[in-house]
Parts: sequence; structure tokens; C-alpha cells
Amino acid sequence: MYYIDPHIHMVSRTTDDYQAMRAAGIVAVIEPAFWLGQARTEASSFKDYFSTLVGWERFRASQFGIKHYCTIGLNSKEANNEALAEKVMDLLPLFAAKEGVVAIGEIGYDDQTAAEDKYFRLQIELALKFNLPVMVHTPHRDKKNGTIRSMDVLEEHGIAPHMVVIDHNNEETAKHVLDRGYWTAFTIYPNTKMGNERMVEVVKQYGSERIIVDSSADWGVSDPLSVPKTAALMLERGIAKEDVHLTCYKNALTAYSQSGQMHEEDWKNEMVITQDSLFEGSSVLRGQEAKEIVYPNIIIEN
Ligand SMILES: [Zn+2]
Repeated sequence: MYYIDPHIHMVSRTTDDYQAMRAAGIVAVIEPAFWLGQARTEASSFKDYFSTLVGWERFRASQFGIKHYCTIGLNSKEANNEALAEKVMDLLPLFAAKEGVVAIGEIGYDDQTAAEDKYFRLQIELALKFNLPVMVHTPHRDKKNGTIRSMDVLEEHGIAPHMVVIDHNNEETAKHVLDRGYWTAFTIYPNTKMGNERMVEVVKQYGSERIIVDSSADWGVSDPLSVPKTAALMLERGIAKEDVHLTCYKNALTAYSQSGQMHEEDWKNEMVITQDSLFEGSSVLRGQEAKEIVYPNIIIEN
């Protein structure tokens, strides 16, 4: 089986991760623009970060047989630095139309402050203007209220639910989000409440329509193999192959291909990679001998 991880921060992962992910069947990833753990103090830091997402990281993934897409946005945490946020807002339109950008995101609320609300709304408008999907980060604190508030705001701005992925759901929010017609994503962190076991139960209860599984792996305790591991557990627990295919591959593709930037053809054909390709003069090799890696055509079993 083949998988898409539609939420993973590869800039903070290693080449070992890329290798293991491809070996586990991950053929495409979406990397949302986010906070780096360290707050940025200059708009130029955002500019270089966005350039990395559409440039070097996309190239780096390709050297491991993985198609890389990204979302562009001002994250909720850093929206609270208003002087900086204003400057970042000016940068966003320059990146939103770049190749491989599949959504505006991840945006939404962290502490649900007035500044977060302001930039969430401005970025929903930006998505509408560029006709791009939106990836919504729901807060880790006061999750249920924050999630409902996010949907209320999205509705106020008139963006169609099928253009929005609400992420970081749990059992408490799932039904609300599904009932209102949004793509409903779940982040599987290791050793947490919303782990693989709970995800299996969610799919047993709600089925596979509009449900998406992702890892959100970043620089914190997280697992870049969450999607294939959850898929394996689902199959083991008797969930139908088709439902696993939808939640761990197809739904993410359907949601984000609405950007016009992501197509199954991008990774379906045979890929021959030698890892000695150059991006602005640099390759991923460090003196190693270039060797040919062949990834066969993918035939999706339904
Ligand atoms: Zn994230």
C-alpha cells in the first residue's frame, strides 16, 4: 500500500527519516509552514523559510523518491507579534502562487487572542483570493471551543467546507467537524491520547469519508511513520482496505488537489534517482558515490 503524509515538517527531519518513510510506502508529503520552536524576529527569516519549503526541501525529498508539497501561511503563535505579522502578510502572496503550494496554512488559533483572530481572517481571505484550500491548526488548549470558533469564522468568510482541512482533531471534536462538512484530519503523535489505537476506533465509529490521518512530525517528540503504522494497525483490526486507502492516501489527495498543484501522476510513474542532482549547486551527497535507486510504477490497489 502507498501513503501520503499530508502534514509533516520535514525541515526538522533527517535523511534517515526520508529513507524510512519511502521504504514504508510514503510517496508524497505536505509540509505546512509553521513555527520553528524559536520565534523569528525578522520578516526575512520567514522569507528564507518559505523559500526553503518551495525550494531546497522539495528538492531534498525528491532525492529520496518522495514528492513534496507545502502550504504557506503565518502560524497562529507568531501572529501575536503584530509588527512582524504585518510584514509577513506582505510576503504571503509572493509565495502562495508558487509551484507545489497546495494550501494556505497552517493557520488558526493558538491562544485565541485578538491578533490570532485578525490574521486568521486575513489569511482566509487570501485563500479565497488565490482559490486555494486552507489547512487549519486547531489549538492544543481549549481544543473544542477553539475548533468550533475556527469553523464559525470560516463560515463567516464564506469559504466552502470542502476547501478546508481542520487538523489536530480528537474524539471530542470529530463529530462537530464532520457534521459541518469539513475535511477532518487527525494527528497521530506517539504516546499520546490521540494515538494509533484511538484512530482505529475513530474510523470504526465514523467510517472513512472526509477523514485524514497525518503525523505532524516536527522537531518535537513525533513519528514520521505514523501514517503507515496507523494504516497497518487499522488493517490488523479488521478495517477494510478501501477505508485505509481513503484515510491514509486518497482523501488528502482529493482535498489538496483542489489547489491544482498536486496530481497522482506526479509520483505514479517509475522514478530513477541517482541522488547526485544539484539544487543551486548542491546535492544531498557528502562525498558518497552516486547510486541508482529505482522506484517502480505505483499501482494503487483499491
Ligand atoms: Zn504542523
